[in-house]
Amino acid sequence: MSDTPKTTETATEVAEEQGPMFSDLGLPENLLRVLDDMGYKKPSPIQAQAIPPLLEGKDVLGLAQTGTGKTAAFALPILARTDAASRTPQVLVLAPTRELAMQVAKACEDYAKYTPGMKVAAVYGGQDYGTQIRAIRGGAQWIVGTPGRIMDHLKKGSLSLTDIKAVILDEADEMLRMGFIDDVDWILGHAPKERQVALFSATMPKQIKHIASTHLNNPIEIKIESKTATASTIEQRYWFVGGAHKNDALLRITEVEDCDATMVFVRTKQATEEVADFMKANGVKCEALNGDIPQAQRERVVDKLKKGTLDMIVATDVAARGLDVERISHVINYDIPFDAESYVHRIGRTGRAGRSGKAIMFVRGRERRMLSTIERTTRQRIEEMPLPTAKDVNAVRRERFKATVEGTIGNPQAVMFKEMINELVTDKELDVVEIASALAHLAQNGIPLFLNENERARQPQRERTEREDRGDRPQRERAPRKSPGDVSTKAMPLKDSPDVDMVRFRMEVGYQDGVKPGNIVGAIANEADLESKFIGHIEIFDDFSMVDLPDGMPETVMSKLKATRICGQPLHLQVADGAKPVNRKPPSGRPAGGNRRPGNGDRRPGGRSGGGDRRPRRDS
Ligand code: ADP
Ligand code: MG
Repeated sequence: MSDTPKTTETATEVAEEQGPMFSDLGLPENLLRVLDDMGYKKPSPIQAQAIPPLLEGKDVLGLAQTGTGKTAAFALPILARTDAASRTPQVLVLAPTRELAMQVAKACEDYAKYTPGMKVAAVYGGQDYGTQIRAIRGGAQWIVGTPGRIMDHLKKGSLSLTDIKAVILDEADEMLRMGFIDDVDWILGHAPKERQVALFSATMPKQIKHIASTHLNNPIEIKIESKTATASTIEQRYWFVGGAHKNDALLRITEVEDCDATMVFVRTKQATEEVADFMKANGVKCEALNGDIPQAQRERVVDKLKKGTLDMIVATDVAARGLDVERISHVINYDIPFDAESYVHRIGRTGRAGRSGKAIMFVRGRERRMLSTIERTTRQRIEEMPLPTAKDVNAVRRERFKATVEGTIGNPQAVMFKEMINELVTDKELDVVEIASALAHLAQNGIPLFLNENERARQPQRERTEREDRGDRPQRERAPRKSPGDVSTKAMPLKDSPDVDMVRFRMEVGYQDGVKPGNIVGAIANEADLESKFIGHIEIFDDFSMVDLPDGMPETVMSKLKATRICGQPLHLQVADGAKPVNRKPPSGRPAGGNRRPGNGDRRPGGRSGGGDRRPRRDS
C-alpha cells in the first residue's frame, strides 16, 4: 500500500525500522503468498504480537485502536488453524455493525484467497435469513456477523456452535456501546468450552474486562500504545453546515484561508463535477477527479496540481487514492467521510514531507456522530470554526486585488498599454486614478469584487453551539429550545411492574446523534446496573430523549448516569421538568397509544423475541 500517507500511523504504515517479518511469525506459505500479493511488507505491531500466540491456540486480549491492522492479526493465525476440509462453522467473529461485519468478512475472504475450500459467511441484520442460511449451510467455516443476528440464528437453529474452535470479538467496546454486550456474553456462554477466544477493543471499560475475565482463558495481553492516528502537523477543524450552501462555504473558506493547493473530498462522482464546475465558474483553477475519468487524464490533472496550473481538485476517495502532491495545503471534507479510517487517509493528503497542513470538514447535524467517532478513533480534537463572514472575504479580496495589480506592473503585456494611458492623461486630462479605476471595473467584467456585507449574516441558526451540544464545555445555561408542546413530562407505569413509581428523565441525546432505543436501554442497564425491564417508556426527539426510570435511584447511580455517554454524547440526565413520581395506581389496561410515537413505542425493554434485526446499527 504505497499510497499511505507518511504522516499517519495506520497499520499500513508499519514500523519500518525493526520488528519481525511475516515469515518469522510461523504463518503457512499460502497465507504469506496473499500478504505478498497485497503488498503487506511487515506485520504491524498488533500483528507481530498477536499472531504467534493465536497460532499456538492461546487466548488473546488485545487493546488496540482502529487502523492498527487487527483483522489480519486474528484472521491470519485463525485461518491457519481452520480445517478447510471440514464444512462446518469453526470460527465465529462478532463485530458491532453490519458495515464492520461485511468489511471483516471481505478481508477474511481475501486472506483466504490461496486456501481452497475456505468459505466465509457474513451474517447481519437487514439481510434476509434465507441468503444467510444458504451461506451457512453451504459449508462456511467462518461466520462473521453482528451479535443480534448471530443470536437469532442460534435461537432459530440455523447456526450451530458445536464445532466452533475460535471466537473473535472485534471492537468489543463498540459492541458494548451499541448495547450488544449481553448478547456477546450469551453467545460466548453457548460456545463450546474448549475454544480459543480473541478479544480486541480500543478501550477497556469494566464490562469488557468482565467479559474477558469470564470467557478468556489465561489470555496473552497485548497493548498497542495508542498514538494519534493523524499527524499532529495537521490542524483540524470543522464547519457546522447551516445558513449557507456548502459551495458558498467552500468558496469563502478557500478564499480566506491561505491555500496553496486544495483537495476537496465528496461522496459521489456527480458531486465531483458539480462542485468543480461551481468553483471554476467562480474563478478557481479547479478540476474534478473521479473513477469515470480515464487514467491518463487523471494523471494529467494531478500533474497540473503539482505544477501549480491547477489549485484545487474535487475528488472521490477512490479517485484520490495514491495521490501525493506536496503543495496540498488544505484538505476539505466537503462530504463527511464514511469512516474514521478514510478520514485519516483523506487528511493525510496534506501535511506531507514535514510541512504543516490544514483539514476542514463540513458536518451536518445528523453527521455529528461520525464527527465524534472520528475524534474518538484519531484521539484528536477537531475544533469548530465559523464560516468566514463577507467582511473577512472582502478584506482578503481587497488585499489580493492590490497584490495582483502590483504584481502585473512591469509585465511586458501591460507595458504596451502605456502609450494609450499616456494619451488619456495628456489629451483628455484625465486623472490616472480615475483611469485605473475604470480599467479595474472593466476587468471585473460585471462581477462584483466584493460580497455584500450588509446581507444578514447567514450563520447557522442553532440554539447551541456544537461544543455545548457535545458537553465539552462547562455547562452554560441552555438556550431555550423548541419546546415541543407534545412532550409529556409524566412517566408512564411499567407494564409488568405497575407498582414501581416511575419518574420521567430527559437526556440530551436524540435522533440527530443517531440514538436508538437499544442504545438507551443498553447504556442505562449497564451503567446503572438496572435490569432492563425497569427501564420504561422511551421517546426520542431530534436532540433530546425522554426515558422513564424507577423513582429513588441512588445518587451514586444517578451521577454515573449523568456522566454516561450514548453515541458519544453525554446524557446530562435530569428529571424532566415538573415531573412527579407517577401514581402507583395502574390504569386498568395500558393507555392505547398514549403519547407514544411510532417507531419506538413498541419497544419492550429487554425483549428478545421477534425476528429481524431490531438492534441499533450504524448507518454511516
Ligand atoms: P483495524 O481493524 O485495526 O482498524 P484493519 O485490519 O481494518 O485495521 O486494517 C487497516 C488497513 O491496513 C487495511 O486496509 C489493511 O488492509 C491494512 N493493513 C493491515 N495490516 C497491514 C500490513 N501489515 N501492511 C500493510 N497494510 C496493512
Ligand atoms: Mg477492524
